[in-house]
Amino acid sequence: MSLVYLGLGTNLGDKEQNLNNAVMALTLEVGDVLRVSSFYRSKPWGYDSKNEFLNAVALVETSLTPFEVLQKTQEIERNLGRTAKTATGYSDRLIDLDILMYDNLILDQPTLTIPHPLLAVRDFVLLPLSEMAPDLVHPVLGKSIIELRRELIP
Ligand code: AMP
Repeated sequence: MSLVYLGLGTNLGDKEQNLNNAVMALTLEVGDVLRVSSFYRSKPWGYDSKNEFLNAVALVETSLTPFEVLQKTQEIERNLGRTAKTATGYSDRLIDLDILMYDNLILDQPTLTIPHPLLAVRDFVLLPLSEMAPDLVHPVLGKSIIELRRELIP
């Protein structure tokens, strides 16, 4: 069994419902959802939109491999109504699921990078993650989540 931290985000429709639906789908498709962080509001990151986001982090115990988790989370995004991304790469979305960490695994493949490459520069990820696992150490940067957050938001 492995422990995987997933980042959840939504900025369209009933956002609380979207996050709850995603957690339900993770339980059915990925594994036991051991914990879910509080839901945090954030401004769109990397593009302009009037729709603010609601973000959370879920800790899931899974028997799936990282690539199987990616396949399942992409399936869940499609089932919950996410459409293809725009040319800029960022757009409003009903649900976005990112694999943040998978045990202490370091992976750098064309379709999957773990830890998530933008984890340390996004406070909408570090904030819910610091609520759940402040002492969790980023295996590439060698720093805890709380340290990374202090560096980002001095
Ligand atoms: P996004 O627009 O954030 O949903 O980007 C999804 C794309 O990022 C997919 O095509 C994945 O193959 C790729 N990707 C790379 N690393 C990760 C990761 N850690 N979690 C989720 N998607 C990833």
